[in-house]
Amino acid sequence: MDLVLRSENLKAGYVLQSPNGWRTVPAVNGINLNVPGDEIYGIAGESGSGKSTLLKALFVTAVEPPLRIFGGKVYYYPWGQEVNIFALPESEKKRLAWQYISYIPQGSMSIFNPIRRIKATFLDFFRSHVEGREDELLKMTREHIRTLGLGPEVLDAYPHQLSGGMRQRLAIALATLLKPKVILADEPTTALDVVAQKAVIQLLKEIQKESHNTVVLVTHDMGVHANITTRMAIMYAGRIVEEGPTQDIFKEPLHPYTKYLIDSLPRIGDKQVREGVPGNPPSFLNLPAGCAFHPRCPYALELCKKETPSLVSVGAERKVACWLRSGR
Ligand code: SF4
Repeated sequence: MDLVLRSENLKAGYVLQSPNGWRTVPAVNGINLNVPGDEIYGIAGESGSGKSTLLKALFVTAVEPPLRIFGGKVYYYPWGQEVNIFALPESEKKRLAWQYISYIPQGSMSIFNPIRRIKATFLDFFRSHVEGREDELLKMTREHIRTLGLGPEVLDAYPHQLSGGMRQRLAIALATLLKPKVILADEPTTALDVVAQKAVIQLLKEIQKESHNTVVLVTHDMGVHANITTRMAIMYAGRIVEEGPTQDIFKEPLHPYTKYLIDSLPRIGDKQVREGVPGNPPSFLNLPAGCAFHPRCPYALELCKKETPSLVSVGAERKVACWLRSGR
């Protein structure tokens, strides 16, 4: 398969000052990703699993203190060749950002300046990447939002005059203005009501279908993954514990953690109380030895408490990190 993004043993986290000196919080612990082109690739997991940190580490210009890259490589495929973004000079990183890789951060509906009309933000963004007269840039902006099903009148509004759902759709419009090949979207449906969530999901689907680009979608909402992603990775304690085609994962989850996430989803007509994952996610400052899921896992073996299972292939398209599946 043709890849648009690949990471090799990516490690990232936060370096924070505490009364006892500097502390390192490892939130991404050796991620190997292979994301194919022309699809929506999901990254799932509870809050605190490291998925948002992973997305920031993958974006060329989102790594700012206290976030640090501790090791590994991230490759993209612009200009017909594989490029390790950590080896690029700043000028090349800036060239890649937004034009080849775009990023929709968490809470992006709040990115618009409350005292300026929406079109001012679009114009500023356009001008920082493209040369052109204001009327030309505005025409292109109108055309872009029209293709996304948004009327031109929203450009004359102030952010407070629009709903959260509309602001989120405009944030997505802004991030896709320069037609990027890869879009990294962090929890784009969080904090929206059900109707607005549906509109945002539909918008992402349409953008991907029209442009044949790749959306890497981070969300804790397994219902969204089931609805929109083609392949997905499940993260726990900064590692990928399962990966494969979304349909296959929902049909037959291989990792006990994935099974809990899927089983906790409500189903139409089913009045049974759904169980969540027992216990709480571990702190990155004090990760359990061995498989980090073992204190919450009903199948834990002695081996699980001592040694960390690697992510290994199970069949042609699935991968899992669990001693029950991989043996020794
Ligand atoms: Fe459970 Fe062991 Fe598998 Fe971890 S490796 S998920 S503790 S059975």
